[in-house]
Amino acid sequence: MELVVLKFGGTSVANIPQIKKIALKVKKEVSLGNKVIAIVSAMSGVTNDLIELVKNTSEIPSYSEYDVVLSSGEQVTSALLAVALEDLGIKARSWLGWQVPIITDRTYGKAVIEEIKTEKINKSLKKNDVAIVSGFQGVSKENRITTLGRGGSDTSAVAMAASFSADRCDIYTDVDGVYTTDPRIVKSAKKLDVITYEEMLELASQGAKVLQTRSVALAMKYGVNLRVLSSFEDTPGTCIIREDQNMEKSEISGIAHSLNEAKITLSGVSDQPGQAAKIFGALAKYSINVDMIVQSSSINQEATDITFTIPETDLALAEKTIKQLKKKIGFKKFLTNTNVVKISVVGNAMKSQSGIANTMFETLAKNQINIHVISTSEIKISVLIDSDYNELAIRALHSAFGLDARLM
Ligand code: ADP
Ligand code: ASP
Ligand code: MG
Repeated sequence: MELVVLKFGGTSVANIPQIKKIALKVKKEVSLGNKVIAIVSAMSGVTNDLIELVKNTSEIPSYSEYDVVLSSGEQVTSALLAVALEDLGIKARSWLGWQVPIITDRTYGKAVIEEIKTEKINKSLKKNDVAIVSGFQGVSKENRITTLGRGGSDTSAVAMAASFSADRCDIYTDVDGVYTTDPRIVKSAKKLDVITYEEMLELASQGAKVLQTRSVALAMKYGVNLRVLSSFEDTPGTCIIREDQNMEKSEISGIAHSLNEAKITLSGVSDQPGQAAKIFGALAKYSINVDMIVQSSSINQEATDITFTIPETDLALAEKTIKQLKKKIGFKKFLTNTNVVKISVVGNAMKSQSGIANTMFETLAKNQINIHVISTSEIKISVLIDSDYNELAIRALHSAFGLDARLM
């Protein structure tokens, strides 16, 4: 007997026939004698529709009410899956985040899970009931509903798997595993049988939305046995493994892209100690993640330019925050560009091999693609380029690093 956490994403619960189909997957686990916690997303497109509803109601909605609206999509699917299972003769019940409870901080819209109480669900599992938990949501200590950020059901699933010491956490989605790049952009992308936590973390944080970044970080921290599988096909999927388990190391494991990027340049910033602390400290107060940063050195020791990137979705808030500090910081111009994409190549082999950056830059140059900003980590190189070149850059780099699968 195993305890398994199964997570079903938006397309996997997109309609009633699909919900009935995944109910059969859950039934299969139950008939193997396993105890099941299922985590569900909202039906695909529903969370976007809910965001529109709030936006159309108010330009500056209260964050806490925003989360109440957003979390409602998962309420529907958790109960529908319970109903579908009961129809198959399987005992099941739905759980909202607050009923578990999944306790989070109160960063509405991107709350962080602090603790999951296991008592109630354990009691229910003992009675052999399948627990179906609404993904993407929790409850703050103030007893308000919170959501975990877009794609947050992955994090709900991994956090549940860690808290309940599950034997495995299977993420069922609309592709049959993790690929060398988004298979919807590059048809010749190859499915990976395995990928290390570290590489998956970089790919996810650089935009490969197949797993939410925080879910990978949690899985790595707690050693959760994580797999990505198809809801539609019966194929083995991709296992996320530790680096020392990876026998088949390739040069580059994947290429990710992120269109949710905004470039901000503060030009004519007076060149004195403490300027970066003022700018980035103010953004941190509003939980705005700054990613790439470049500061040019000033020639006359008087003024410098600081360029950085943030999620495009945070641009309005960042602009308001920094412009309020204009006098304190002392800059001349505030420039923005949202017509950009960040492309990243990721691979553990970068730790030991040289020449990868060179291949990347030469490939982009051959295709006449201009680079705005570069950033690197131990296993990743990212470039910010014009978004018009997104697909060209991904395809060219995919070939240049020998990642193309042979197409039949
Ligand atoms: P779900 O609704 O199941 O959570 P998502 O849409 O969040 O599914 O994530 C699955 C999608 O991630 C795929 O449809 C695919 O387009 C995209 N994706 C991006 N990069 C990758 C990658 N490297 N491998 C697999 N899928 C990827
Ligand atoms: N429904 C939420 C979203 O669309 C959470 C998820 O699907 O993981 O972001
Ligand atoms: Mg997702």
